[in-house]
Amino acid sequence: MPIVVLKDVKKSFGSLQVLHGVSFSVEKGEVLALIGASGSGKSTALRCIDRLETVNSGEIEVCGHKVHDPDLDLRKLRLDVGIVFQSYNLFPHLTIRENVTLAPRSVKKLGRKEANDIAMACLNKVGLGEKADNYPEQLSGGQQQRAAIARSLAMEPKVMLFDEVTSALDPKLTGEVLKVIEALAASGMTMIMVTHEMGFARRVADRVVFMHQGLVHESGTAGILTDPQTAELREFVMNDL
Ligand code: ADP
Ligand code: MG
Repeated sequence: MPIVVLKDVKKSFGSLQVLHGVSFSVEKGEVLALIGASGSGKSTALRCIDRLETVNSGEIEVCGHKVHDPDLDLRKLRLDVGIVFQSYNLFPHLTIRENVTLAPRSVKKLGRKEANDIAMACLNKVGLGEKADNYPEQLSGGQQQRAAIARSLAMEPKVMLFDEVTSALDPKLTGEVLKVIEALAASGMTMIMVTHEMGFARRVADRVVFMHQGLVHESGTAGILTDPQTAELREFVMNDL
């Protein structure tokens, strides 16, 4: 049973058509790497899955929620989907612990102790247990991004979406964030990750979807990254070397 299904999804911004009929699906526990050149529509596709953008046509189903349906219960969808962006957007005036307990307390209405227990478990998972009472500005970029991942995990989502979460980081700091995502993948989390880290995608992804000009141009196992079938993916992978 797939957890995420996109069927012939089309999306335009004004006169600019960005998605020309995108279809792919993700099974429970699967890690899907979404790759492609800048501007190919990866972020738009990801944002449509969490209904941060609405599709013009086609269907998206996520954990049983019909995301394309105008009557979608957004709150329920967002309870099942976690999303992490390139910019971590932690609240600067709150400690890391407060950042992570905020949504469990305000959205899920958990009590202080229960929210704190979940937050600490998530912070330990990303290796930040000892930074719980620090403020974001006291952390490195890599640590802040790990805190943002913990904040998402604290809501216990069924699917995690990652949009180039390491591209704003100093190359020295990307490794620690990728390690956290890799551990999460190994723990069985279903995830879609937009990434430019080809080595990482090769190692962690069960499946790879290569987007080109708003369409899925090639997809398959991570093996397509070493043995591309289309000229476009071959060129994309070559440029990365
Ligand atoms: P990628 O993530 O693969 O780099 P995006 O999905 O961000 O690609 O963008 C695909 C195209 O859609 C780009 O040409 C971009 O400028 C355009 N685009 C994305 N979001 C918007 C928006 N909100 N309004 C207008 N154009 C947009
Ligand atoms: Mg993008």
